[in-house]
Amino acid sequence: MDANLEFIDCPTCGPSEQGPLYDVDGWKIVRCLSCGLAMVNPRRQSAIKIYEDDAYFSDNRFYYDYAGNKRAYQIGFRSKLALLKEFCPYGGTLLDVGAAYGFFMEEAARFGFQAFGVELSKAAAERAAAHGVVFNRALGDVETDQRFDVVAFIDSLEHFEQPLEGLQKAHALLKDDGIVAVMVPNIDSRFARLMGAKWHLFLPEEHLFYFNRDSLGTMLARSGFDVVHMGTGGYGRSVSEILRVLTRGKSVHLRPIETFLRKMAFEVNLGDLFAIGRKRTSSGDAAGIERRDELSPPLNSPREP
Ligand SMILES: [Zn+2]
Repeated sequence: MDANLEFIDCPTCGPSEQGPLYDVDGWKIVRCLSCGLAMVNPRRQSAIKIYEDDAYFSDNRFYYDYAGNKRAYQIGFRSKLALLKEFCPYGGTLLDVGAAYGFFMEEAARFGFQAFGVELSKAAAERAAAHGVVFNRALGDVETDQRFDVVAFIDSLEHFEQPLEGLQKAHALLKDDGIVAVMVPNIDSRFARLMGAKWHLFLPEEHLFYFNRDSLGTMLARSGFDVVHMGTGGYGRSVSEILRVLTRGKSVHLRPIETFLRKMAFEVNLGDLFAIGRKRTSSGDAAGIERRDELSPPLNSPREP
């Protein structure tokens, strides 16, 4: 095997049986048969290095033009913040993990939160700092006495090499009763199942994990949260970006009318997941175990013939 590749256990379950799902661009997507979490396995070691490079936010393979699509992204952020506000009516401090250029932080401030961010790219962190304090490092390396009312992972947890550790760190950084918000692609959405291996959110070099309701709920419970909301959420997308995804990057020749196509933006809900968990402060994993019992078996668990 390539020396740069590593095999991983399920971050939630540890050593468990894994079953094959898809081959995507030469990468194997497998599913933990215990909790349902899908992952790239084996995967490249130290995959998260790409986010330290500012080209991530302008490279055609990744975001293409993050800044140009700001308005579209913020449309998607608004509905998440409106829901967060129901659980956190007085606002408070919010830490955005994977802050990019600070667009979510900016929107959070409009909703009455005092925004903080964590961002790996130095150039992006500098831009995000216009909207609050930004830690330019990995979440695991954040050291602060500040405690937060909300820690948000909007399109970032699926990029983590160790997502359980990310949620545990969020737990440690939250005030008692604080909440965690997680938006991730849903591998079991109708749309994802319809698209199969061609699902546009299969990005094996960036998205290392693929959640469904069960696996996200289980990981949240395991990291010390009671799930108080598990629903679907949309992404804010401009017509220009939708065309780019549909044509797999070949719509670049539309540049002359790009400005116009970017202004046409709306929220697209393809069944991806938005979950909210409340920090559990009592000891023990009782709530997590209870919740697991309610969960349906994972899609790919072995079935009776
Ligand atoms: Zn598992």
